[in-house]
Amino acid sequence: MPTSAERREQLKAVYGEARGCTRCPELARTRTQVVFGAGNADADLMFVGEAPGAREDEQGIPFVGAAGKLLDELLAEVGLARSDVFIANVLKCRPPGNRDPLPSEIDNCQDYLLAQVQRIEPRVICTLGNFSTKLLRADPTGISRLHGQAEIRVVGHRAVRLYPLFHPAAALYTRALLETLRADFARLPELLAMALPEQPEPAAPPVAPVPEPEVVADAEPPGDEQQLDLF
Ligand code: URA
Repeated sequence: MPTSAERREQLKAVYGEARGCTRCPELARTRTQVVFGAGNADADLMFVGEAPGAREDEQGIPFVGAAGKLLDELLAEVGLARSDVFIANVLKCRPPGNRDPLPSEIDNCQDYLLAQVQRIEPRVICTLGNFSTKLLRADPTGISRLHGQAEIRVVGHRAVRLYPLFHPAAALYTRALLETLRADFARLPELLAMALPEQPEPAAPPVAPVPEPEVVADAEPPGDEQQLDLF
């Protein structure tokens, strides 16, 4: 198991790759900065939202606007703070005018999210809203049908309890959704206390590169038969 410091370094390396990303030319051109994600690299609980908005793009931190304030409040109600969790998004760049993420953008960006999950190794992932729920469940079923129902899912190589929740931005404007979101949040301590789901077999290690044959000065070049002996 990596130490906290190792996890942080590994996450920083992923950030190092993401921060100069140009896979989505429009987003790379219009963003102020990449909003990689923030929080505890050792977190048991991860939240995955949709994409940075204007405030997030400005500050480089996810969920700093009104939806973020609500997220902070809901966390506090279950005894958690931002420093206990890791918060990320499906897209690391703000879509111009806050339009919906495009399928090609989601596709381009998902390696970063999977790398984050792989490094952080959370026990529970809360998807916030439709985009992250559909992506991490690999299924088009919407959040209204799924919210508040935890299930064990493999995300990348990590088996987690996936717990879909309404997006806090939706709950800001609809009282009934806020009450539902609050009630769903209240189950988080119970989910976090559950045993870690059984993990999938680790992927086979990559095939080791074949070592270069040692070059011996002045040696005769090997004939065909000797070459065959090298493998
Ligand atoms: N909404 C999101 O989905 N993510 C943010 O970071 C901010 C608002």
